[in-house]
Amino acid sequence: GPHADLISSHIRDVPDFPEPGILFKDITGLLVDPEGFRAVIDALAHAVPADVDLVAGMEARGFILGAALAAHLGKGFVPIRKAGKLPPPTHAVTYDLEYGQACLELREGTVRPGVGVLLVDDVLATGGTAAAAAQLVEAVGARVVGLAFLLELTALDGRSRLAGREVSSILATA
Ligand code: 5GP
Repeated sequence: GPHADLISSHIRDVPDFPEPGILFKDITGLLVDPEGFRAVIDALAHAVPADVDLVAGMEARGFILGAALAAHLGKGFVPIRKAGKLPPPTHAVTYDLEYGQACLELREGTVRPGVGVLLVDDVLATGGTAAAAAQLVEAVGARVVGLAFLLELTALDGRSRLAGREVSSILATA
């Protein structure tokens, strides 16, 4: 897109965070820059499928981008949270990480059956988080009409776990 250089110039590589051997993509500098933040939301909005009724964001940076995008589109927003943060009743899905497991939750009654949901997160890495979030949305009878990311780490091939889904990313890097 037209703002790819502006956006990528505000993303910082942090070696060995949060663990040794991991190269973390830090988007903090992008959020604090007014033009950068606007460019990201505009770019996400550009790729939104026509049949989106509701935006859902994955904790935590998916909240920031997803909520801003939802307001920009005039849609509602739903947070998909890590275990134990939402009051009951919730729907939950457990998924495997490289080491151990993680759990995502959705507040019961927030996503109605048949609704078209756009899932938003900052980074697509292995795709485990996104696949679990999609499973959660579908478990309540709603439809995942797309998944939108700021940055896709292509070497980790997250797209293979989202095969058959409508996936878009503003930037891609190995
Ligand atoms: P995955 O489940 O695809 O392996 O990891 C994606 C999730 O972890 C997303 O929620 C994303 O926010 C976070 N994540 C993984 N790697 C990075 C990274 O390098 N930078 C940022 N900002 N988030 C990351």
